[in-house]
Amino acid sequence: MNESIPPLTRGEARSVKKRTRTFRPNYLSFAGTYQCNLACPHCCVPIEWTDRLDVPSAVRFLEQAHAAGIETLGFTGGEPFLYPEFLNTLTKRAATLGFKFDKLMTNGVWHRDAAHATVVLSALRDAGFSGKIGLSVDKFHGMDIAKLAEFCHVTRAVFARDTILSLSYASREPDKGLEPIRRLADALGGVVEWSKLLGRYLLVSDDLTMTACWNHLATVERAEGLPGNPWDGVWFVEDYCEGPGQALIVNPKGEVKPCCGFASDLDQLTIGNIHTDSVEDIIGFARNHPIVGTIFRDGLTALRDEILGRDPSALPGATSNHCFFCWYVLTRGLAAGANGGGGKAGAWTTTQPNYTGELIQLGLRGD
Ligand code: SF4
Ligand code: SF4
Repeated sequence: MNESIPPLTRGEARSVKKRTRTFRPNYLSFAGTYQCNLACPHCCVPIEWTDRLDVPSAVRFLEQAHAAGIETLGFTGGEPFLYPEFLNTLTKRAATLGFKFDKLMTNGVWHRDAAHATVVLSALRDAGFSGKIGLSVDKFHGMDIAKLAEFCHVTRAVFARDTILSLSYASREPDKGLEPIRRLADALGGVVEWSKLLGRYLLVSDDLTMTACWNHLATVERAEGLPGNPWDGVWFVEDYCEGPGQALIVNPKGEVKPCCGFASDLDQLTIGNIHTDSVEDIIGFARNHPIVGTIFRDGLTALRDEILGRDPSALPGATSNHCFFCWYVLTRGLAAGANGGGGKAGAWTTTQPNYTGELIQLGLRGD
């Protein structure tokens, strides 16, 4: 449910009233639909599923989150613009409640033509959306650059802000995978520059300034077969998942996840459901959750250390990719307290013991 380009990025600063080592979400995001007009090779979203989040349940949860002190709202998918009535109603209520809007992630090529995009974006603006439209632009999205440039022009015109758009790209390193962004810059008559101040790339044209947010590509699910070894021999830097985490991310089934990381679609990272649980219940459950509670209290390194302490050969090596590590140990049931499963799009066909010593075989391809 992370649109495969998470709206939140490691290292992105979000205001935190009190930095306590526990799960204390400060961000809410809805994926109203899984469906998408694209089918990217690295996508983690089950885009063929037809579930949609019903608007009244989402509004009720939004109001509860507001009462619990959560002040920032984002949208992801699937492709969120395929369910505009959801976006507009939630935006209107959130604006009334005083929410700060974060990104609405889109592929930017869902529209029929400029007139269609103008109508849909104008309705969102009129509902009170004051965040950014986050565009996923990388080689996996197989972009129609001319259509994407059209979307940028329309968005700039409708919102009348030169910072209305931002970019996200997934690759193995921050300075790799920028080619589609450079092609978009050409189409917009702009340039791509490194900003020392921001520590990231910018696309700058006469009337647009877009920051480019990098996401460490995790070769999971549909991306499992991509070339390159994710066990790159370097251990990830502990960050307690503060960047992509400390969030309540609601998927179209109503399930709530604590982050938008690449492993968050796994059932092992579900911390409740908005149809049956309150925000308060969900936060309490997350804190006591064997995986989620540990990650936000003791860190992802605590999971790693527990696994290696039990069996020094349990892992194939070290990886610098947090979410790949998370997905690997959760699908294989290696972390104490969570059985394996999921990752069925992958090609893992070996048998090995999970954390209880039980031999499991997971991740078989359906084809
Ligand atoms: S744009 Fe691509 S990555 Fe995003 S939801 Fe659609 S298919 Fe998945
Ligand atoms: S490492 Fe796991 S918990 Fe952390 S952001 Fe990634 S998927 Fe979420």
